[in-house]
Formats: sequence, structure tokens, C-alpha cells
Amino acid sequence: MDNAMQLAEVRAPQVRDVRANLVGELVLPGDSTWDEARLAWILNVDQRPAAVAIPEDVNDVIEIVHWAVDSGFRIAPQGTGHNAGAMGDLAGTVLMKMHRLKGVTIDPETRTARAMAGSIWIEVVEAAAEHGLAALAGSSPDVGVIGYTLGGGLSWLARKHGIGANQVTAIEVVTADGEFRRVDRENDPDLFWALRGGGGSFGIVTAIEFNLFPITEVYAGWLFFPIDRAGEVLRAWRDWTETVPDEITSVGRLLQLPPIPEIPEPFRGNSYAAVEVIYSGEDFNAAAAVIEPLRALGPMMDTVTAMPVAGLSHLHMDPEQPVAGAADGGMLDSFEDAAIDAFVGAVVGTPLLSAEIRHLGGAVARPKAEHGALASFDAEYLAFTAGMIPVPELDGPVRVAVHGFLAALEPWTAGHTYLNFAEGRRDARTLWTPTAHKRLRRIKAAIDPGDVIRSNHPL
Ligand SMILES: Cc1cc2nc3c(=O)[nH]c(=O)nc-3n(C[C@H](O)[C@H](O)[C@H](O)COP(=O)(O)OP(=O)(O)OC[C@H]3O[C@@H](n4cnc5c(N)ncnc54)[C@H](O)[C@@H]3O)c2cc1C
Repeated sequence: MDNAMQLAEVRAPQVRDVRANLVGELVLPGDSTWDEARLAWILNVDQRPAAVAIPEDVNDVIEIVHWAVDSGFRIAPQGTGHNAGAMGDLAGTVLMKMHRLKGVTIDPETRTARAMAGSIWIEVVEAAAEHGLAALAGSSPDVGVIGYTLGGGLSWLARKHGIGANQVTAIEVVTADGEFRRVDRENDPDLFWALRGGGGSFGIVTAIEFNLFPITEVYAGWLFFPIDRAGEVLRAWRDWTETVPDEITSVGRLLQLPPIPEIPEPFRGNSYAAVEVIYSGEDFNAAAAVIEPLRALGPMMDTVTAMPVAGLSHLHMDPEQPVAGAADGGMLDSFEDAAIDAFVGAVVGTPLLSAEIRHLGGAVARPKAEHGALASFDAEYLAFTAGMIPVPELDGPVRVAVHGFLAALEPWTAGHTYLNFAEGRRDARTLWTPTAHKRLRRIKAAIDPGDVIRSNHPL
């Protein structure tokens, strides 16, 4: 049944009824705000759900769940739409956009944060920094806290402190039966386990609480080299990653920046091989000594210095506003010389803006019994690439280049992949260990037997 037929059936009087009960909004095709309501952060993802629900509070969420289930719709919760590309066809689905459930509170005593479902990372990072604390936030300031954490959460502090989801202490969620639950280690431990890295298939999360760390400053920045030194620099960086302590997380990267006014001088229109380094320990002199072999390569620009930890949200230069583009990524078992050659060959001269390899290992490779569904990463490196699509004519070339990037690295691709960096559909069995995947499916069948809640990466 298509959306128009379903809407004809539900438009009145049910829609009027549910709207009267909401503080927030229910937007339908044909409404004046329809096109704005269905936009995702990735602007070129053409989301066409049956309806867009924009709850203002938890009661709205419960109300919309009851209405959607009674009307025969499925529900897809969405924070920002950073991973909207993976969602697929939304026919017969109510897109529930959570951005109006705002609010971040920090408890300096227990060193924890509470973030409502509409929170983005910069809001937590800046609030925590006021108390000398740091969160396991990702590279981008405007990624959603909930989507990121449900999928795992790989931060600049990951090699020291592990996957973000494993620092969660409590989650509030409305399940497909319309029930509000607060889950933690003691209350509904199975659901609590599933929500920590098992993705968004289990309910609509309304708030999340997690640990913070007493970090105020880091020693971090970039080393830029000409792009024609890419192979040499990436080999030296790869060798160096095999020697560094867990306090250091780093990225080997190629950047091909277009000549557009949004990109500041001296970067505008230039291409680089670069290494980003983040040291989160206390001895910056020791960190400088560890970084020395990279500096000995003679970078053309070296920005590595002491900086407030909140500055990490802008270090990677991720876009801070919605963009049109295409991206995708995967995990690598190794980044041997032949993989480096394949990486460079798949990027240089293509329309890809950025291609990066993040160093994993350290705490993200060490599973613990108390961890959630994504206990660890079983891979050494993570690969990711992105290209902008400012005009429709670039859609084809950028997608071909993204596909070519993944294909070139295929011989080194790990069996395990990472949900948050998968911007297209993946075999769910590659997202978790076989044991975790089976347990997730059992929990989903018990809590949502009608498969009402749709996530971007279903089980
Ligand atoms: C520029 C950029 C930088 C990134 N950097 C990092 C990084 O450093 N580390 C990292 O780990 N990831 C990173 N990511 C990936 C990011 O974590 C994922 O795209 C994540 O899914 C985004 O969450 P979101 O809520 O912003 O996006 P959305 O697309 O809104 O959400 C993704 C999925 O999460 C689920 N979800 C979201 N909100 C809720 C909710 N309230 N209840 C239930 N389910 C919900 C849904 O299944 C939804 O489809 C980056 C992505 C981009 C585009």
C-alpha cells in the first residue's frame, strides 16, 4: 500500500484526534511544512515517509506511538538524519524527528551527563567542559548524541576510554507498546544491553545518561604534507601507530579541498596528506616526544599543540551544517603497504573531499563482561570517505568514487563492520558478533514482535 492510500484512510478523524493531543506536530504530505519536515541532515536524501511526527515531550512520543500502531504504520525515530542515507524506503512509516526534545544536564559529583533525545554533541561537550569534564564525543559537533551512542560511538578518546555506548549508565525509552521505561543494569538489563551499541531497533529513546571524564586539555592538532607525499606519509604514520600508547588516537587522511569561499585560506583549493593526532593523557612533553617521528617527516604545517578538550569537536573540520553529499566506510584488518597504495589510488584525483583511516585498538579492542551489544571493535583501522554533491551533476561521479574507494580496500576489509560509519545497507551479521546478533534478534522479537520500530540498520 502506498503512502497516499494509507493517508486517505487515516487522514480524518484519527489525524485530527492525535493532533489535538500533541504539544508537538504531525506533518502530512500536502501540508505547507511537509518538505521542510522531511529533510534530513544529508540534504540529498529524499525522505518520503507516510507522515512526520515532531514530538515536543515524552507524552507526545507515547501518543504518536499509539496512534501510529493503531493506524498500521511503522515508526522510524531520527535525531539529526546524519545516517539517513542508510534508512531506505520510508513508505508506510512515520518518521519521528526528535530534535525538539532538548536539554543537557551535567552532574559534576557523579561525573555524568543526561542528554535528551534532541541533543547534539556540541551541547554536551560545552556543558561538560564548564565542569572540567569531557564526554566520549565524536568528531562532529552536530551529530546526535542518541544515534551516535545507540550505534557505538567512536571518539577521539576511544583508544583510552573505549566505545561510547559502554559508558552509558541509564536510558529512557518508549517501546512499541507505548510503554515508557527507564532501563539500566538492574532494570530490564537485556534491553539496556541491546541499546548500548545494538542500534535503534528497540524503541524510541527519549534520554540517555553516561559517564564523563576529568579531562580539560588535550595535546592535539594536524600535521599537513603535500598530497604527492601521501604514500610515504601514510606508511610512516601506519608504522608509528604500531608503537603509540592508548592515550593517543590518530588519523591518516587525504584532503582534496575545492576552491569555494566556505573553505578558508590557505586550505582553499589545495590537497593534502595529513595526520591528525589527539593525546588525552597528562604529560604533554611525553606526548611531544612520541609525536617526534611524525614531525621529523617535515610537515609543511604543524598545528599540534595544547588545546581545550572542547576544541576537539571542531578539530576534524566536519561540516557543521546540513550538506548534500555521499559517504561510506568500513573496517580494515590491516593497512599494509599494498592497502596504502590502493587507498591513495582510489582517492587522489577523484571528486572525494576527504578519505581517512582512523587508528583503532587500545580500549576499543578490549571487550568486558559489563559492556553492551557492541563490546569492542575487532579490527585495527577504520576507513571512511566523503564527497560533497553541491550540484546534481556531481551525484554520479561522487557515488562512483565512494564505491570505488570501498572496492579498492575490499582485500583488507574486516569481517566486522561499524554501524555508525556504514552509510548504506549492510548484512546485519557483520555489525555484531554472531552471539551478540542472535541475542539482539531475540530481544527485538520479545519487545517489538510486530517490528514496529524501524532503524537505519535493521537486525
Ligand atoms: C560528518 C560526520 C561525522 C561523524 N563522526 C563520527 C565519529 O567521530 N564517531 C562515530 O562513532 N560516528 C561518527 N559519525 C557517524 C554518526 O555517529 C552516525 O551517523 C549516527 O547514526 C548519527 O546519529 P544521528 O542521531 O545524528 O543521526 P540519525 O540519522 O538521526 O540517526 C541514526 C539512527 O539512530 C537511531 N536513532 C536516532 N535517534 C534515536 C532515538 N531518539 N531513538 C531511537 N533511535 C534513534 C535511528 O535508528 C536512526 O536511524 C559521523 C557522521 C557524520 C555524517
